[in-house]
Amino acid sequence: ANLSNCNDDSNNNGSFLKIPKIKFTKLFINGEFVDSVSGKRFETVDPRTEEVITEIAEATKEDIDIAVKAARQAFDSGPWPRMPGAERAKIMLKWAELIEENIEEIAALDTIDGGKLYSWCKAVDVPEASNLLRYYAGAADKIHGEVFKTSRNLHLYSLMEPVGVVGHIIPWNFPTVMFFTKASPALAAGCTMLLKPAEDTPLSALFYAHLAKLAGIPDGVLNVVPGFGSTAGAAIASHMDVDAVSFTGSTETGRKVMMAATMSNLKPVSLELGGKSPVLIFDDADIDKAVDLALFGILHNKGEICVAFSRVYVQEGIYDEFEKKVVEKAKTWVVGDPFDPKVQQGPQTSKAQFEKILSYIELGKKEGATLLTGGKRFGNKGYYIEPTIFSNVKEDMLISQDEIFGPVMVLSKFKSIEEGIEKANSSKYGLASGIVTKNMDIANTVSRSIRAGIVWINCFFAFDVDCPFGGYKMSGFGRDYGLEALHKYLQVKSVATPIYNSPWL
Ligand code: NAD
Repeated sequence: ANLSNCNDDSNNNGSFLKIPKIKFTKLFINGEFVDSVSGKRFETVDPRTEEVITEIAEATKEDIDIAVKAARQAFDSGPWPRMPGAERAKIMLKWAELIEENIEEIAALDTIDGGKLYSWCKAVDVPEASNLLRYYAGAADKIHGEVFKTSRNLHLYSLMEPVGVVGHIIPWNFPTVMFFTKASPALAAGCTMLLKPAEDTPLSALFYAHLAKLAGIPDGVLNVVPGFGSTAGAAIASHMDVDAVSFTGSTETGRKVMMAATMSNLKPVSLELGGKSPVLIFDDADIDKAVDLALFGILHNKGEICVAFSRVYVQEGIYDEFEKKVVEKAKTWVVGDPFDPKVQQGPQTSKAQFEKILSYIELGKKEGATLLTGGKRFGNKGYYIEPTIFSNVKEDMLISQDEIFGPVMVLSKFKSIEEGIEKANSSKYGLASGIVTKNMDIANTVSRSIRAGIVWINCFFAFDVDCPFGGYKMSGFGRDYGLEALHKYLQVKSVATPIYNSPWL
């Protein structure tokens, strides 16, 4: 990889193993990089090598209190919520430019921190940060209320006001995209915020904080507070002076965040949670293309994707051929160092995630599913796992019900459209879904019958910043992306005044 500003990693032999210099390791509060009050630090680990990259200042409750104060002050008396939307937009556009100037370095940070493919981070994730900033910068001067028609002697209108201090809590699988999915609409709305990156992937978030300052985001508006969920995350969710929380992560943690919000100041919460997304592949599908789609659907980002096609249902007419071909292709999937452009799958993000996936693979075997390929660690160093496929899976097996969040495909058969729909819906989750068919009647029927926040017909992972995204059922509520996301960060104030001859004046 041609990385500017990078050191050779002396601990390895491979020509692609390069690491960027780590410049930012402290909390970013009120426009400054600061140590934590406790002086505590935590290690962040390179999943390729299992070695510690660096130590990061660890935010605990005291630091969250300080960051909330800074955000509160920036909201209550600072310029950000008061400046014209077009002025906020200018600063956001500058930030987008600065990100583009640093794409390679940031992409490398996400690669060493999260084991993500460098080529993907460089071509997709980091550019998406700028896309999100530009999209919401374009909306910042178009936020307005309504004037209401009334038969009474009243001028009635609404104002759209920023909700206040927002707490953002994000996961480790897309450190960059998650950061800007949350921060961009909140900034456009005029909110101030705390953002807690996941403890496994804090590096790019701190770099973004540095660029935010250079772009001119005023002090206190954006506070980045790495730390653990049970301390820093919980302190944000339960804080009396945080006005709203936008959370992305597991369903289990989402429940805790909502409880904390309920038990404190009843702050509104939006939850983007887990999934166990089905794809239905119909008899008329082009089998080779369907195989590619299904593999990309579960192996992309090593299966650490909330929308992964982790349940693959194939219609009985093509099932046998599909099974044979998908196994053959999975065996050719290239696992290895995520800086190597030939590699398709890097290491799992953390030891905990690596062990969780391997234990689900053992469970699948015990539950009686057939292991068709994979099922083991890949190599003997780093958190790599072989692409894994199970068949003969029953709906009630845990490998078919639980989110494994790894490169583990669960393959089964269906007969009729009705049976396919029933199986697709037999999950507590409802985040994403897929249909592979050339038949529009089937595509239309199934897309209207599946209970999920997004349906991909003959594609996977097709997003656009303008299109809302979020879950049904236990995959959460509230929408990120699109103009819809702005509403999480706005509240409506109604204003009434008599038009003439007021009886009260
Ligand atoms: P997680 O729930 O363990 O952690 C997510 C974040 O919550 C982290 O920052 C963590 O520190 C914090 N956290 C943990 N405990 C907390 C608590 N008690 N209070 C407040 N915050 C707390 O999830 P993860 O393992 O980081 O991410 C994987 C999960 O995220 C998967 O379930 C995946 O499906 C989901 N996810 C969903 C989407 C989506 O858009 N729906 C996107 C990406 C990931």
